[in-house]
Amino acid sequence: MTHDVAIVGAGPVGATLALALADSDLDVVVVDPRAAGEAARTDRSLALSHGARLVFERLGVWAGLAATEGAVTPIVTIDVSQARGFGALTLDAGEQGLPALGYVVSYRALQCALDAALQSTQVAMRYGTAARSVAGSADAAKVEIDGGPGSALNARLAVVADGAGSTIEGIARTRRDYRQVALVAAITLSRPHEGVAYERFTPDGPVALLPERDHYALVWTQTPERAARLLDMPAAEFLAALAAHFGRRSGGFTGVAKRRSFPLVLEVATATTATRVAVIGNAAQALHPIAGQGFNLGLRDAWELAQTVLQSPRDDLGSAAMLDRHRRGRALDRRAGIAFTHGLVQLFGNNRPWLSVPRGIGLALLDAMPLAKRAFTRAMLFGIH
Ligand SMILES: Cc1cc2nc3c(=O)[nH]c(=O)nc-3n(C[C@H](O)[C@H](O)[C@H](O)COP(=O)(O)OP(=O)(O)OC[C@H]3O[C@@H](n4cnc5c(N)ncnc54)[C@H](O)[C@@H]3O)c2cc1C
Repeated sequence: MTHDVAIVGAGPVGATLALALADSDLDVVVVDPRAAGEAARTDRSLALSHGARLVFERLGVWAGLAATEGAVTPIVTIDVSQARGFGALTLDAGEQGLPALGYVVSYRALQCALDAALQSTQVAMRYGTAARSVAGSADAAKVEIDGGPGSALNARLAVVADGAGSTIEGIARTRRDYRQVALVAAITLSRPHEGVAYERFTPDGPVALLPERDHYALVWTQTPERAARLLDMPAAEFLAALAAHFGRRSGGFTGVAKRRSFPLVLEVATATTATRVAVIGNAAQALHPIAGQGFNLGLRDAWELAQTVLQSPRDDLGSAAMLDRHRRGRALDRRAGIAFTHGLVQLFGNNRPWLSVPRGIGLALLDAMPLAKRAFTRAMLFGIH
């Protein structure tokens, strides 16, 4: 049999696509090696934009997620500054007429909410099943699988959302190693965080503090060598190093837990479509976390692809014309998200002192110009269309 859509990977992006297609009469099948309700990744703090909230509201998962104890923390203010340089920028939800600029959401809680929502739909969820390869031909895409009945699935359209793009044949990925790692940890405070997030650009790289439940989620960019030392440091020494780096803008750090690090790379699929195949989410592009854009971009991939699929006649699914519409529709937002994130890394993610002045001017100008600030904030919140 030939399914209408086969989705490879039910992470937050693949599961969102499946849910967005669930009310149609399409025959949708999803494979993922993980078990239902379990997350493939260690828990991490996803930074969701306001636009991402709107997507989850439309899919009916936001209210339950927001009501789950500790799953969602609103960001009401973002304070951007640079160490040893002038210029600062404050983005405020009130100024944008929004309840929050974004949200810090637990990856696990989001995955659980999406899995639970998918349970009561017609979508065929095949947990415990991994795709080995995805390849398209003129008539259908073929997904070879391990686990569960059968050895392959056929579909008019296969969507790769496996987080790594490792299952697709014929699409290469470019990889740029930033030679830095992100050190992440939970930082407790002597006072409530009041929904304020801090992004501070320091000579060693950017440091972000995101409000989460009763603590801050820290994302600290470091060289691998320094990160290794910071990971092993006694807690008091670590907190002192963080406070010194952070200056006077935040402070009162009282404890650190769950320290770990991961390498920072930019991985971009050279194409997001192939014969009868579309690639979305981290499988299409994995970005540096400096601007919190990666997951939001992946989510927009899923939402926009769902709209293209829903607007296409069944016979047109996976055709070159349908995939071309999808690719063209996503091109600007995708290119802008990658370029914006990479540009920020180049401008702020290094210790070239001569950049301090242009950085300061940029931040000060942006803060002083309401229209430019609004455009900047809107791009961060909703993406570029
Ligand atoms: C190490 C690391 C740390 C990160 N930390 C943060 C962070 O702190 N904050 C933040 O906002 N973002 C972070 N990100 C980015 C964020 O995790 C991604 O943007 C988000 O997970 C993308 O969702 P996704 O569904 O595309 O992929 P994933 O979340 O990777 O999900 C992929 C899914 O595909 C499934 N899968 C894998 N292989 C197969 C296969 N062969 N067949 C079928 N299914 C398969 C997996 O089981 C999984 O369920 C991090 C990324 C990495 C790599």
